[in-house]
Amino acid sequence: MSYADVGGVNVSTWHYIDGARVPSPDSFPVLSPIDQREIAQVASGTAAEVSLAVSAAEAAFDDWAALGARGRAEYLYRLADLIDANVESLAIVECEDAGMMLRPLRAYVAAFGAVNFRAFADMALAQTETGWSYNGSKVRVQRMPAGPVGIITSWNAPIVISTWKLAPALAAGCTVVLKPSEWAPLTCSMIADLAGEAGIPAGVLNVVQGLGREVGEALAADERLTRLSFTGSSRTGRAVGQTAANNMVPCTIEAGGKSPLVVFADADLDAAAKTAAFQYDDAGQMCIAGSRLLVEESVAAEFLTLLGKHTDAHVVGNPRDPETTVPPLIHPDHLARVSGFVERAVAQGDTLLRGGRSLGGLLYEPTLIKPRSNDAEIVQEEVFGPVLTIQTFSDEDEAVRLANSTRYGLAGMVFTRSADRAERVGRAIRSGIVWVNAFNLRDASAPFGGRGMSGVGREGGQYALDFYSDLKALYIKEDTTYED
Ligand code: NAD
Repeated sequence: MSYADVGGVNVSTWHYIDGARVPSPDSFPVLSPIDQREIAQVASGTAAEVSLAVSAAEAAFDDWAALGARGRAEYLYRLADLIDANVESLAIVECEDAGMMLRPLRAYVAAFGAVNFRAFADMALAQTETGWSYNGSKVRVQRMPAGPVGIITSWNAPIVISTWKLAPALAAGCTVVLKPSEWAPLTCSMIADLAGEAGIPAGVLNVVQGLGREVGEALAADERLTRLSFTGSSRTGRAVGQTAANNMVPCTIEAGGKSPLVVFADADLDAAAKTAAFQYDDAGQMCIAGSRLLVEESVAAEFLTLLGKHTDAHVVGNPRDPETTVPPLIHPDHLARVSGFVERAVAQGDTLLRGGRSLGGLLYEPTLIKPRSNDAEIVQEEVFGPVLTIQTFSDEDEAVRLANSTRYGLAGMVFTRSADRAERVGRAIRSGIVWVNAFNLRDASAPFGGRGMSGVGREGGQYALDFYSDLKALYIKEDTTYED
């Protein structure tokens, strides 16, 4: 079957290659995290479909690049309008497919797809070539679209994450082969249809569905690609990065996190506790989650009480229900992984302060653990579930030392009323983003990425447009007579 009925929305389950739907002999099942019901059988690609898609992207490249930023923007604005017009269907499918909460999907999350396409089309239009004189020559810095690129994405927030990468790639003039996660592949398929409806020429945006070991590996290894952009776990990111390095292909890797949320005694403790409890939202399946709470010793007891109050306000349940704030985990394998972390922590002597139980289906309680030491696995490794740790510190130096004490470095949060401390600690945390007295502000113009095991390179704004471009220094001698 080429379509699946997902919550009343018809979604194509085949690949999207060269502007057409393409089947595969095999398929894989997609289970809804809500009730683990099979909602679709999706075409399971192989190296053959990847090769077809890269050929299509290669063939479409020259014409797409030649359109220039203005020509491409027309298509990208149309695609953004179509995403806006289809928010309801996208929200329903992302809820069923990825288990994300329907209310925020409807209110603003699905529309982020449109925000991304508009923002990057605008930024590409605003770019100007720089030039100057040097030693009797004009120097121009010419910006050239890199070519066909490969994009591999994770299962959490598929609309936001895929468009965050597709938009700058397409705006910069690249053509794309996208490989969505096999655990939540359906909204990326819908975006491909919308791209077709927007008139984006065949071959410019291709989607190959399938398993990481087959399609992901084949895509990463295709030597015709000029860039690779990956979002997923640090382990897979490492493998993709090795393949890219082997082919001398620049890559960005947006990987896992274990971000600190640091609360000083002078902070608005209730606001800090509310933000800390918010880290359970989406069942903690957010790469930027502040999953390590670091609290100044003198206010730890008060903070814990406030955190308890805000955690009590969470509703664990069905993501279709507007009251739900902690939806199910994505997949039975992921539930086993999350509960395994908690079981090992308890077995190794960490203290379970709250939660620690499965609640049926793929639901898991908001869980809080006081580790026996900073070396504990539960402090050092990403869980990617509704599991937070809490540790105390006695002064600013210790807070910064603990904040920087894992191999990750994606994000950080600091709560303080001191402007000086905000500046000092904000600068001292080694990560791609720090929010002071805030969480998850995201300006598409700002850089996004991580250090250490959280990733390689930066996306967002000019950083993404640069990544998807080749820059050329063009020298034209000035004192020569040219005949046109
Ligand atoms: P994953 O690494 O298992 O899979 C990511 C993608 O890679 C999927 O499409 C998968 O099919 C593919 N893949 C798997 N094996 C592959 C291989 N050998 N070669 C090429 N591709 C392969 O990650 P996941 O479980 O889908 O996502 C969760 C992870 O993503 C978490 O660690 C989370 O922190 C991270 N994440 C990071 C960001 C960020 O922006 N930094 C955003 C969202 C998620």
